[in-house]
Amino acid sequence: MPSTRLKAAIVGGGIGGLSAANAMIRRGIDVTVWEQADPPGEIGTGLSLFPNGRRQLERMELGEALAEVGATIGDSSAFYRMDGTFVSRVVTTDSSGWKGIYGMHRSDLLRVLAGGLPPTVIRSGYRCVGFEQNASLAQLKFATDQTDTADVVIAADGIQSSLQQYVVEPSTPEYSGSRAYRGLISKEKVPEWPKEAHQIWMGDGKHFMVYPVRSGRLLNYVGFVPTKSETIESWSATGDRDELTASFEGWDTRVVGILEKVDACFWWGLYDRKPLPSWTRGRLALLGDAAHAMLPHLGQGANQAIEDGVALAVFLEGRGSAEVCGILRQYEAFRRERTDVVQAEARKQGLRLDSRSGSLQQRDQEIARSAEFRKSLYDYDVEKSAIAYLNDVAT
Ligand SMILES: Cc1cc2nc3c(=O)[nH]c(=O)nc-3n(C[C@H](O)[C@H](O)[C@H](O)COP(=O)(O)OP(=O)(O)OC[C@H]3O[C@@H](n4cnc5c(N)ncnc54)[C@H](O)[C@@H]3O)c2cc1C
Repeated sequence: MPSTRLKAAIVGGGIGGLSAANAMIRRGIDVTVWEQADPPGEIGTGLSLFPNGRRQLERMELGEALAEVGATIGDSSAFYRMDGTFVSRVVTTDSSGWKGIYGMHRSDLLRVLAGGLPPTVIRSGYRCVGFEQNASLAQLKFATDQTDTADVVIAADGIQSSLQQYVVEPSTPEYSGSRAYRGLISKEKVPEWPKEAHQIWMGDGKHFMVYPVRSGRLLNYVGFVPTKSETIESWSATGDRDELTASFEGWDTRVVGILEKVDACFWWGLYDRKPLPSWTRGRLALLGDAAHAMLPHLGQGANQAIEDGVALAVFLEGRGSAEVCGILRQYEAFRRERTDVVQAEARKQGLRLDSRSGSLQQRDQEIARSAEFRKSLYDYDVEKSAIAYLNDVAT
């Protein structure tokens, strides 16, 4: 065992950065999280926390805090055609039968993750503007002119990562041709909405979904619509409510009924990136959207970021500073096997949901068959797999 504790600096206090910090602290690593926002606001809408991500957070003893704000997703969750014809049930458990999906407001999840950390760990109001490294340490520079040094730097700075350029040539975002209108409605306005229901309607080039967040008190809706012009890749751009409503005219009355209750909405252009040639250079590693931005059609962006953080903590536990570069390369090799698949599947799922993957009958069958893939996604235990991987490498 090394005589001094490893010092990690995480850039970005989003879901990936805070999950990594929680996992690392629990494995004896000194961590500081540098976040540009000050204070973190109520930005963002709903996210799904799936069993593969939630299992890890519960192991960090965040289960009680999650239960206070999560909205369980369960029975009456289903896929429909745009006219309301039933297609298939939504998978709401892992293979053991655990009903482990929560619909969550992004800011609630961030609060839970921050609550798992000692108060001095998160340093808000620090925008990272520079990175340097040499054989023995890495240095960050902030817009405030302050600097920090660490044995290892984790770039958890999201889809528009500014640290990515220190690992690879900055990747070009690929526009999917779709824009997502999204927002929240008070559940009181939609009393007929079935308890725990995540419902998805699929039409020609479009789809619409609704699920509960914040203990079921809010409903999160997202309407995916094709566009000719690119929409900015922002989580907080204000959308056009009338365009949203017009896009789903004539759909199932449940969709139209929800849209009648919408006062205001946000929109966000859907982009992803091709898998990067590399995620690490020396003492710097990418994590979450900075490493593998994906389309939202499997709802795995946050969950894969959580998995990355846990894997990094397992790989770095008990290491000395001199071992960091080699161990980060192993982290990348281990995680890519999974994230490359999830990234590609998210694109395919988008085509199915937009009815662009063969005939409707064929699409409906594929949606029903994808239940098996879903279960395998949810059953995965990144902590156990990372430990097994390291044991394999060691023997
Ligand atoms: C404001 C916001 C709202 C979102 N809303 C939704 C949503 O409604 N639904 C959904 O499905 N997904 C949403 N996402 C995306 C989703 O949270 C991510 O896909 C997922 O959590 C991956 O996590 P991440 O940690 O890699 O990135 P993110 O969660 O995006 O976190 C990145 C963090 O890095 C910080 N950061 C960026 N650059 C710097 C810098 N130079 N210095 C310091 N800090 C920096 C950002 O402020 C942010 O807190 C949102 C992301 C953001 C940033």
